[in-house]
Amino acid sequence: MKLYSTKHVSPDVDLREAVLKGLPPDNGLYMPYEIPKLADSFWNNLDNYSFNEMALEVAKNMIGNAIPSEDLKNIIDQAYHFDAPLHYCGNSAFLELFQGPTLAFKDFGARFMGQLMGYFLKNNNKEVDILVATSGDTGSAVAHGFLNVEGINVTILYPKGKVSDIQEKQFTTLGANITAIEIDGTFDDCQSIVKNAFLDQELNERRTLSSANSINISRLIPQSFYYFYAYKQLADKNKDLYFTVPSGNFGNLTAGLFAKKMGLPITKMIAATNNNDIFTHYIQTGEFKPKPSVQTISNAMDVGNPSNFFRVLDFFGNNYNAVKENIEAFSVNDEQTKQAIKQVFDDYKYVICPHTAVGYLAMQSFVNQNKTENTNNIILSTAHPVKFGEVVEPILGFTPEIPERLKKAIGTNKQSIEMSNDYTTFKQWLMDK
Ligand SMILES: *Cc1c(COP(=O)(O)O)cnc(C)c1O
Repeated sequence: MKLYSTKHVSPDVDLREAVLKGLPPDNGLYMPYEIPKLADSFWNNLDNYSFNEMALEVAKNMIGNAIPSEDLKNIIDQAYHFDAPLHYCGNSAFLELFQGPTLAFKDFGARFMGQLMGYFLKNNNKEVDILVATSGDTGSAVAHGFLNVEGINVTILYPKGKVSDIQEKQFTTLGANITAIEIDGTFDDCQSIVKNAFLDQELNERRTLSSANSINISRLIPQSFYYFYAYKQLADKNKDLYFTVPSGNFGNLTAGLFAKKMGLPITKMIAATNNNDIFTHYIQTGEFKPKPSVQTISNAMDVGNPSNFFRVLDFFGNNYNAVKENIEAFSVNDEQTKQAIKQVFDDYKYVICPHTAVGYLAMQSFVNQNKTENTNNIILSTAHPVKFGEVVEPILGFTPEIPERLKKAIGTNKQSIEMSNDYTTFKQWLMDK
């Protein structure tokens, strides 16, 4: 597998280098040269594949001979032991991507990445430090994804008192190779400490640092798996197929484009965003205008400069019209989001999280606008509603049931190191480790 930088300045790399580097030095994004079509045998066997069997075929198709098939199978089997079922409500189905350990779709990307990095670093005899700044979801997915992966230590920096209790418990109770640092400051402080660390020559001579950022190609490859898995579950595969993707950094949507390129018959992708409507504005006008993010109740999508935008653009040869033909975009506000959570519960007795509600509304807008009938409409359900209890409970008037795997974390004591937001304190701590 050979990858290029979307800026075409940095040299091409193989998968190993793309995964370990994350970003090309020219600040572009790594993209695969080739995303081959899946063979007929894949489609003929699809109905009989388990999720992991199917994922292996898709991964082999993308990764080629970069990793022997047996090793790739191990990586996938270590990463995945949970389902992604479709749940129908009226004319649409929710693809439940929250059945993993941290109750959000990021488990799919982070767990594959953890295993893949562990694989590439095997026999490296150097310990690698992964640094992550998080405002919630990413920290927990990465912590679980890298838990007990040999040769890798994960350090998570999060703003004290600014993540929900449930989120905090998910990354402060694991122990082993996962360390949580509670910074007396904001998320931006955490992010700037991590950035400083990557730029610090003295520190980088002492320790091998890496990131688990969402722009890493190893988080995108596995996210294409569940698009096929959704299709596999459809009763009638001949109808037009629409996917709505609640989007922030647009990694999830990019993965859907990969699936399409491999032959999945997606009629159109629908990008759903909250008031951070940079992409909707782009589709409407052809102008890409990043803005500072605004806070919403679907906060994992509060992104003012979507980092995978240039992958989407690159995918269509930087041709605005081609993007517009393949992707529709809708933005919705918090009030509409709340109403959708209530409406889906009233109509179908089904509880959705705020991000998924944004997706639901975008799907409804699309269906109403285009008067599509008798189509397969799939909404990616990106998180479990209990993760956003403070939003969902006042709307519904009750607490959605907490899954067992989360109860366990909630009942375990938090372990974290408190630190000031001063970079040198963190640096000293890491140097002395
Ligand atoms: C990260 C996240 C998103 C946005 O996904 P992108 O790949 O960044 O577009 C949406 N919903 C939830 C719950 C998330 O955690």
